[in-house]
Amino acid sequence: MLTMVRWSVRRLSADESRGHDPTDFDIIPWSARNPLEEHVITSELLKAYLACPMKCYLQSTGEKCSENKYAAWYRAKDDSYRRAGIKRLTTIFSHALADRQIDPRQLKTARWQLAYDQAFEANELSASIHALQRVLPKAGSPEVTPIRLVHSNRPSRSDRMTAAFDAYVLSKVVRQPIPHTNIIYGDSCATTKVYLATYLQELTKIINKLKAFLAAANPPDLILNRHCPECEYRDRCR
Ligand code: SF4
Repeated sequence: MLTMVRWSVRRLSADESRGHDPTDFDIIPWSARNPLEEHVITSELLKAYLACPMKCYLQSTGEKCSENKYAAWYRAKDDSYRRAGIKRLTTIFSHALADRQIDPRQLKTARWQLAYDQAFEANELSASIHALQRVLPKAGSPEVTPIRLVHSNRPSRSDRMTAAFDAYVLSKVVRQPIPHTNIIYGDSCATTKVYLATYLQELTKIINKLKAFLAAANPPDLILNRHCPECEYRDRCR
C-alpha cells in the first residue's frame, strides 16, 4: 500500500515572491496546505459536474445517499477495472515501481518508471491520477504521462475531459508541458491518447464555470437526465 502524501502547488504571495519570477510557484506537501482553502476542484467533482450539476453540488456538500444497486454495480465495475489495470501495469514495470506518492521535485533524479494512485493539487485543482509513466528520453528531461483506466469500451467525453484534467494539473505541478494522457479502456485494454491541447480551451471554460458554481454554493435546478440510472443519488432525486 502506498503512503499517500499529496503534493500541492501554490502561487507565491507578494511578500514571498520578492526577488522571484512573478509566476513562481511553491510546491508544498498537501498536509501543509491551508485547511481553510475551499472549492477545490477534484477529478471526481469535475466528472460529476460533466454528468450533472446537481450531482456535483451534492458531492461537494458531502450529501450522503443510500446508493442504488445499479450505481453500486457500476462503481464496483469501475473500481475493479482500475485495480486490474494497475495490477497489469505493475507487473510490466515491476523492476521500476515507485513505492509511494512521488515528489515532483525529484522527478529528474528519480528512478521509477511507473507510479500509481497518485494525487496532486495545483491552484485549487486536484487530480487523482490512476497511474503515471516516466520515460527517460535519449536527450532532455524525463517525460511523465498520466494513465487513466476506463472500463467502458468507448471512453466518453467526460472520460476524455477528466484525462485532459490529469495532464493539465500535472503540468502545473511538475512545471513542464504534459502533452497527453493515455486512456486504457475496454475489454481489449486498448489505448488512446488524449491531447491536452485539443481540450484545453474547453477544459479552461469548464473549470471557470465550476469555480463559480462551487463558490455560489446554491443548488442548481434538478433536471433528470440520461446519467440518472447510474447515479448514486437516483433514489434521492426521483
Ligand atoms: S439522479 Fe440524476 S438529477 Fe439526481 S444527481 Fe444524479 S444525475 Fe443528477
